[in-house]
Amino acid sequence: SRCRHVTVTGGLIGRSWAMVFAAAGFKVKLYDIVQQQIKSALENIRKQMKELEESGFLKGALSAEQQLALISGCTDLREAVEGATFIQECTPENLDLKKKIFGQLDLIVDDNVILSSSTSCLLPTKLFTGLQHVKQCIVSHPVNPPYFVPLVEIVPHPETDPSTIERTYALMKKIGQSPVKLNKEIEGFVLNRLQYAVISEAWRLVGVRISNYCERYRDGMKLVLNTFGPVPEYSGEVEQKVNQAMSEKIPVVPKHLDSRREWRDECLARLAKLKIQM
Ligand code: NAD
Repeated sequence: SRCRHVTVTGGLIGRSWAMVFAAAGFKVKLYDIVQQQIKSALENIRKQMKELEESGFLKGALSAEQQLALISGCTDLREAVEGATFIQECTPENLDLKKKIFGQLDLIVDDNVILSSSTSCLLPTKLFTGLQHVKQCIVSHPVNPPYFVPLVEIVPHPETDPSTIERTYALMKKIGQSPVKLNKEIEGFVLNRLQYAVISEAWRLVGVRISNYCERYRDGMKLVLNTFGPVPEYSGEVEQKVNQAMSEKIPVVPKHLDSRREWRDECLARLAKLKIQM
């Protein structure tokens, strides 16, 4: 039988992960402490899958009904993780809460399962240090919603086993995501560092009122931005290194550049089509 995968909540991200795994044919258990969250997650997933199927955008080879049959809910942690090979934790972004969950998981899992967190900003050393199964722990940071935005940042703890990194990477590929491996942890990982750099510059330029966003992310953004180094010179060794890597990927030859542009435009066209349908 197929291995079973688990998303740990029925929240926003957990639902979308559940759809990603089910599309790839994996069994999913939605675990949540709030029973109502599971109920509404299952209803919401059903609605989304049916609509996607009708508009021809349902992922995977299985029908919506077949995919729905793979997803079930559960409010008992031990039952939820029984037989799991990969656990994608999606509880709220709160260090104490996540540490508590991983502490509980640490006591009940075997030596093979991968414990993966969806955290946006919490570093693996903060989340996993001291756990008995730290070798099996990793961050797989998605972009909301992972069903439509495939990028996943894979961030290991210093003690994460290389096989955990490779297995997570391979699994993400298998389920159709686009994983990127970070060699070590850094505040904000890569995506949020880039995003926060752009947001903070837009802030300086415009000073728009986005109070709800600020309320939620103010502290996190300041924490990440404080770790930025001085303004780069954009020249010298780093410039050469970046230039060389880019030239290797896309040779500076018109033929290659043209086909790369064509590929980009095709992607943008598909994206535009998708946006109209949504
Ligand atoms: P959410 O609030 O929508 O969902 C959280 C879920 O956790 C809820 O269903 C809640 O009932 C459940 N929960 C609370 N306490 C629990 C406990 N002790 N045990 C089990 N379940 C519990 O949050 P979200 O937006 O889905 O975010 C989840 C994680 O994903 C966070 O770490 C967040 O940083 C990360 N993330 C979010 C986004 C995003 O844009 N929303 C993007 C990338 C990563």
